[in-house]
Amino acid sequence: MIACGCYVCSSPDEKDKRLRSSILVESATTSLVVDTTPDFRTQMLRANVKKLDAVLFTHPHKDHIAGLDDVKAFNYFQKKSIDVYANELTQQALKREFNYIFADKKYPGIPDITMHTITNKSFIVGDIPVTPVLVYHMQMPVLGFRFGKLTYITDANRIDDEEKQKIIGSETLIINALRKDAHMSHFNLQEAIDIADEMKIPHVYFTHISHQLGTYEEINSELQPGRQLAYDGLQLHF
Ligand SMILES: [Zn+2]
Ligand SMILES: [Zn+2]
Ligand SMILES: [Zn+2]
Repeated sequence: MIACGCYVCSSPDEKDKRLRSSILVESATTSLVVDTTPDFRTQMLRANVKKLDAVLFTHPHKDHIAGLDDVKAFNYFQKKSIDVYANELTQQALKREFNYIFADKKYPGIPDITMHTITNKSFIVGDIPVTPVLVYHMQMPVLGFRFGKLTYITDANRIDDEEKQKIIGSETLIINALRKDAHMSHFNLQEAIDIADEMKIPHVYFTHISHQLGTYEEINSELQPGRQLAYDGLQLHF
């Protein structure tokens, strides 16, 4: 956290150096990211991503959309539009925050995107089938996404039983856990553990972690087998 001198923010462990939450999902032919964070450019450079076909958005908060402008580098090299999948609520924010991308008269060099409106119904991106999972962030509807054996949920503090059915059967769940103390719009660590246990998910990674949670080493050592903190650069293969 900017200007914080706490022991987590000053930890020398690389696993305590966290950018904003996002994942890259790749198949043999298709690459997509979930959310374009304010760190999107840094994340794409760091992971040496050379190809991007699509962006899926979870919700309109700034820490999940602010990096959209930087997809223009992929437009430039791939000479094609980037498919963007977002619900109506997120699209309203994108049109407000990035009005120039949606303008009738576009100036050169700006991002070229093709908008697809999604709800909580399944869709396919290239050869990747996607099942959205509707979750709640206090009052705000947020979309999690299931990709085969993997489900990614961020910025939730409530998942209704009907939507839990879509997650059950996942081999791996990545889910938000902000800190140990309660929070009005994010699961805390215990709530995230409980929901994963309830759905009997074998492999669980916690993400969207605040410096208030503690260091990777200290918190990870307290977790049960199959439950771990995610960290920047973590790669999973299915
Ligand atoms: Zn701190
Ligand atoms: Zn949020
Ligand atoms: Zn967030």
